Amino acid sequence: MPKKRKKHGRRGRPSKPRKPRLSKIKVQAPKGTHDILPEEQKYWDKLRAVVAQAATNYGFGRIDTPVFEDVRLYIKGTGQNTDIVQKEIYTFKTKGGEQLALRPEFTPGIVRAYIEHGMKNLPQPVKLCSIGPVFRHDKPQAGRYRQFHQINFEIIGDPTEVSDVQIIQTFVSILKRLNLKKFTIFINSIGCLMCAPKYKKNLLSYYKKRLNRVCPECRRRFDKNPLRLLDCKNEKCKKVTNEAPQILDYLCDECRLHFKKVLEILDDLEIPYILNPYLVRGLDYYTKTVFEVWEDKDDSGQGALLGGGRYDNLVEMFKGKSTPAVGAAAGMERIISFLKKQDIKISEIEKPKVFMIQLGELGKRKSLKLFDEFQRNGIKVGEAFSKPSIKSQLKIADKEGAKIALILGQKEALEDSIIIRDMVSGVQETVLIEKVINEVKKRLKQ
Ligand code: AMP
Repeated sequence: MPKKRKKHGRRGRPSKPRKPRLSKIKVQAPKGTHDILPEEQKYWDKLRAVVAQAATNYGFGRIDTPVFEDVRLYIKGTGQNTDIVQKEIYTFKTKGGEQLALRPEFTPGIVRAYIEHGMKNLPQPVKLCSIGPVFRHDKPQAGRYRQFHQINFEIIGDPTEVSDVQIIQTFVSILKRLNLKKFTIFINSIGCLMCAPKYKKNLLSYYKKRLNRVCPECRRRFDKNPLRLLDCKNEKCKKVTNEAPQILDYLCDECRLHFKKVLEILDDLEIPYILNPYLVRGLDYYTKTVFEVWEDKDDSGQGALLGGGRYDNLVEMFKGKSTPAVGAAAGMERIISFLKKQDIKISEIEKPKVFMIQLGELGKRKSLKLFDEFQRNGIKVGEAFSKPSIKSQLKIADKEGAKIALILGQKEALEDSIIIRDMVSGVQETVLIEKVINEVKKRLKQ
């Protein structure tokens, strides 16, 4: 016979109802992602503010594109044989059967938007700035995440060297405004559809004879993405690269002249750079100028702060009309880590000088209303509305460095008054609520 559940505890008293059991799981941020906690936000706010200022100064308009796009955009744009598409892209099929990808970089989405919104009809070039998360299924390690954030600038519709330089100049101005001075710009030209194929042919024949001296990854690159052979950081491969043919010897007249002018303008602007004839970048769409900015004088560290280049064929590849363009992206996590390494102080957001203290139900309600009125008057006010005791609220006000505490208890609420307490001297004065904002303004000016 089934046992009857006891309705009464010992001594006949009704037993307490049992709290239902919750099924629990242990959750952690997915590998390669990170939370940006409140204490970190000052770096992010500062960086965003500096980027917004640079965008205004150099005439870039902000554009926000979706974080996911049709996967074909990246296969075609970023390139089928790039590391991004081969190994790192996050793709998924929707319930409706669409094949989408989380954006691994900004440029293809921005070019899509340029075509889709008929921006070719605007005065050219169109200068666009974006900021936001990107996703790459990379091996997580220091400075390398699976979700990270990029600052991205593009100039679409100008073939001249001025735009190449302006992209570099904009990023240099951002780093300088952040007081970051110890960085190095590496620059190269990888030619165009006319001259690059001849170089690639010669490069392949050079490596063909030396395949036994390079790493397995480079042997894969030999078949799929030969320019990336030059990019390998493996010491064994670097020795082979050091004697490889250099693209600069193969540039056509147009590419050579373009690159010469880019370097001349950088010299005029006194922006120092190092010419690295083996810099190629990882993506398929680049033509002519490519560049990267690193923390140190060599490019063997954790990774570049930023990188970019010219991409004169991408708009056309997406069924747009032939439109030259240039752009670059910087990793926000890397810039922030650089700021911390250089021990650059970021000023804290100014804490409120006024703190509101409430007591009792009516006091709390009136305080919430008054708090709003202070905001409307542009006065920042601190609060700890969840704390019931005056002692604990005063302690927080003191810790936060408030100059003035406003105390609204049951008595004051009934009398439409409020106590103003000078947090330094401890002197208190009661005023009518309707006068408190002006009184606080007066005291803050003193
Ligand atoms: P890329 O287009 O790959 O050169 O990326 C541009 C910039 O984004 C780099 O210079 C880095 O600052 C940053 N970046 C790229 N990949 C990662 C990653 N996995 N984690 C953090 N930052 C990254």
